[in-house]
Amino acid sequence: MITTPTVKPEGLTVLIAGGSIGGLATAIALRAQGHQVKIYEQALTPETKGAGITVFPNALSALRMLGVDTKAVQATRVKHITRVTTEDDGETDMVESDIDEKAWPWHHTTYPDLFVALWEAVHVTSKLGPKIEINTSKSVFRVDATRGIFYFSDGSEARGDVIIGADGVHSVCRSYVPGGSIPRFRIKRHVFRAVIPRETLAKDPKTAKYVEHDGHAYCYNHNDKSLLITPASNSQKVCVKFLYEDRMAFKNLSKDWRDPSSKTKLMRLAKGLPEECIALFEKICDSDLQDQPIWDMDPLTTFQSHRMALMGDAAHPMPPYCGQRIAMALEDALALGVILERGVPNDEIEDRLRLYSTTRKQRAVAVQQTTRGLSEADMRNVATDFDSASFHTYILGHNEREHMSQALSLWKRSRHPEDFQQRKPPLQVWADPVEVPRPSSGRRSPSPKKWLSIGRRTSQAWSRVFSPKGSPVMAT
Ligand SMILES: Cc1cc2nc3c(=O)[nH]c(=O)nc-3n(C[C@H](O)[C@H](O)[C@H](O)COP(=O)(O)OP(=O)(O)OC[C@H]3O[C@@H](n4cnc5c(N)ncnc54)[C@H](O)[C@@H]3O)c2cc1C
Repeated sequence: MITTPTVKPEGLTVLIAGGSIGGLATAIALRAQGHQVKIYEQALTPETKGAGITVFPNALSALRMLGVDTKAVQATRVKHITRVTTEDDGETDMVESDIDEKAWPWHHTTYPDLFVALWEAVHVTSKLGPKIEINTSKSVFRVDATRGIFYFSDGSEARGDVIIGADGVHSVCRSYVPGGSIPRFRIKRHVFRAVIPRETLAKDPKTAKYVEHDGHAYCYNHNDKSLLITPASNSQKVCVKFLYEDRMAFKNLSKDWRDPSSKTKLMRLAKGLPEECIALFEKICDSDLQDQPIWDMDPLTTFQSHRMALMGDAAHPMPPYCGQRIAMALEDALALGVILERGVPNDEIEDRLRLYSTTRKQRAVAVQQTTRGLSEADMRNVATDFDSASFHTYILGHNEREHMSQALSLWKRSRHPEDFQQRKPPLQVWADPVEVPRPSSGRRSPSPKKWLSIGRRTSQAWSRVFSPKGSPVMAT
C-alpha cells in the first residue's frame, strides 16, 4: 500500500496575498523554515509610496529576529518635542520637553524605508532558504481555504499547502474565515500624511527650524486638529501627520494608500494653524500627499480557516498609534514562522494555524484595545495619562518568537504526550541563524485580561463614525 508522506522534504508551498509589510515579513519568516513562498500582490509595481511610521522596540526586535538589517530602516530617535497649542483668538501656548529614551523609546521611520529594508531582505540569496517568488498585478478575488487555492481576477489560480491573507485592511481573504464578514469602521479622525526632504525645509527661514536639531519633533494642536512633525530617514526627511475630523467623508470608503489626495483640502483644513505650518504644507509635493481614513474593526472570532491564516491588517485593523499596527504585522510574521517550522507534518497544518489564531488573537485584541484608548490625546501629553509600566512590559517588551514557541511547545506536549513521557529532547521550534535579543525588563507581563482595561481611559476618540456600507453609525 502506498502511504502519503506527512512531511514534505522540499518544504511547504505557501501562497501569500499581499506584498506590503506583512506579506514580505511573513515570506522572510517562512523562507527561514525552508518553505517555498510565493507572494501575490495586486499592485503593478512594488509600491514605495508612503509616509511616517513609528517604530517602537517590539517592532525593532521583530525586525532583528526576522534578520532584517535594521540600519536600512533608518529609524531616527525622537529626543525632544515642542508642543504648540493655538486658540481661535490666536493666543499660543508653547511647551518644550526632552524625551527620555527609557520612558518613551520613540523612533521614527518612513514606509518606503521600512518597505525597502524588507524588500532587500526578501531578495537576499544565501543559505537562508529557497528563493521567494514575487508576482505583481495579481489580485486575489476568491479563496478556497479548504484546498488552499487563490483565484485571481485575471482568471488564473494558484494552489498551496498553506495560504496567508496579508491583504490589508480591505482584505478579500478575511471574508473566508468564519465570522469574517463583520464590517470594519472608520473612526472620526482622518489623517493627511507626507514626507518632505530636509533640504527643502532648510532653505526657507519659516520652516528651517524643523530640521535645525536632530531628533526634534513638533506637535501643533488647534481645536480638533493635530499636526505632528517628526524626523525620519536618519534625519534626512521630515514626516508630516495631520489629524483632522471628517464627519462628511462618505466617499472613498475603500480608499487605498495609493489613491490621489487633495492638497486644496489640506490647505483649507490648515486654517488656524501658525504660519510656519502653512509654509510646511506648501512644500509638500502633491503626488506625495496621502489622505487616509483611520480604519478599525471589532476583533474577529478567528484568524484561520482550514489551510488559510490571516495576518497584519487583514486580521486586526487598528488605529495607527504607537506604531503598533506595523508591530503587530511583524509579530504575526514571526509567529507564523514558528508555527510552520521546518519539517511540519502536512496533517498538522490546520491545527497549527488554529493555534496561531488563538495565540495571536489574544495579544492582538489586547494591543488593539490599548491603541484605541491611547488616541491622539497621547500626542498632546506623551502618554503620561496611562499605565506606562504595563505598556512597556506587555507591549514594547514582547518577544513573539518566545511567546509562540512556548505556545507550540505546550501544544506538542498535549498532542504527543508519549514523546515527553519518554523524555525525548524538546522539539526545536525555530531554526534560523538570527540572534534572539532578550527582553530588557525582568518584570512579568500583566495578564492579557488585566491588560484589556489599560488604555480605556481616553476611549472617546475612537467613536465609530461610518461603516463601510456608508451609513453613519455614531456610537460612543
Ligand atoms: C503603499 C502603502 C503605503 C503605506 N503607508 C503607510 C504610512 O505611511 N503610515 C502607516 O502607518 N501605514 C502605512 N501603510 C499601512 C501599513 O503598511 C499597514 O497598516 C501595516 O504595516 C500592516 O501591513 P499589512 O501588510 O498587513 O497591510 P498593508 O500594508 O495595507 O498591505 C496590504 C497589501 O495587500 C495588497 N492587496 C490588497 N488586496 C489584495 C488582493 N485582493 N490581492 C493581492 N494583493 C492585495 C495591497 O496592495 C497591499 O500591498 C501603507 C500601506 C501601503 C500598502
